[in-house]
Amino acid sequence: MKCERCWSEDGVGDLIVAESNKSGRNAELGKIHLCHSCRAAAPREPLLLQKLFLKFASKKELLQHYGVNAASDALVRWCTEMGITLKEAETLLSQESVRLGLFAASDMSSLQPPTRQPPYGYRIQEGSLIPSPSESSVVLSVFDKYLEGETLEDIAQWLNRSRVPTRKDKTWHRSTVRYLLRNPLYAGYQRRNGVLRKSSHPALLEPSLFEKTQAMLAERCRRPDQKVSAISLDTG
Ligand SMILES: [Zn+2]
Repeated sequence: MKCERCWSEDGVGDLIVAESNKSGRNAELGKIHLCHSCRAAAPREPLLLQKLFLKFASKKELLQHYGVNAASDALVRWCTEMGITLKEAETLLSQESVRLGLFAASDMSSLQPPTRQPPYGYRIQEGSLIPSPSESSVVLSVFDKYLEGETLEDIAQWLNRSRVPTRKDKTWHRSTVRYLLRNPLYAGYQRRNGVLRKSSHPALLEPSLFEKTQAMLAERCRRPDQKVSAISLDTG
């Protein structure tokens, strides 16, 4: 039996995932198999456990996933994705003595609140997100190409060849393309307190196309270190 987080076979055992409900009793959500050291480091808090600790077995994975060089930048992106503030994340993480082995004390002290820059594809007008004509057409092309079967690498190369500017880094990488394809904002959804909800901002594409993209990402990515968790939209 292998550890579901790091694939080690060293002293693998069950960790019971529990969530405290309103009556203060712990509701058992399930069991996961973890090796000895992952079990010892695992946080009890469900959001940290499921959306951070289990998703990223190392700092390297975390940085690669978000296409950034600093753990503090990755944390800012993770917070945006989860719909929680940096302050909330700091509080959660400070309750974990080892910061899950993903963040050093210096990462936490260098945390800057996210810039007010809107997500790629949008601009802000009178406090609301509206599609940016040039960037939103790039977003649509990226989804089109991926749905037509092009790889993340193909798309990154095409963007670089076409000299499509990025917001921050100089070049597009497969990780930046994947980050874009995974953003439910483009289907008109936003994460608040870890839950995806329909938002009032204009979507760039149909939720069904977004969901199809997520299924393809999960299917086409077989490397355990790049596993993606499903994103399902409540379209009912
Ligand atoms: Zn492990």
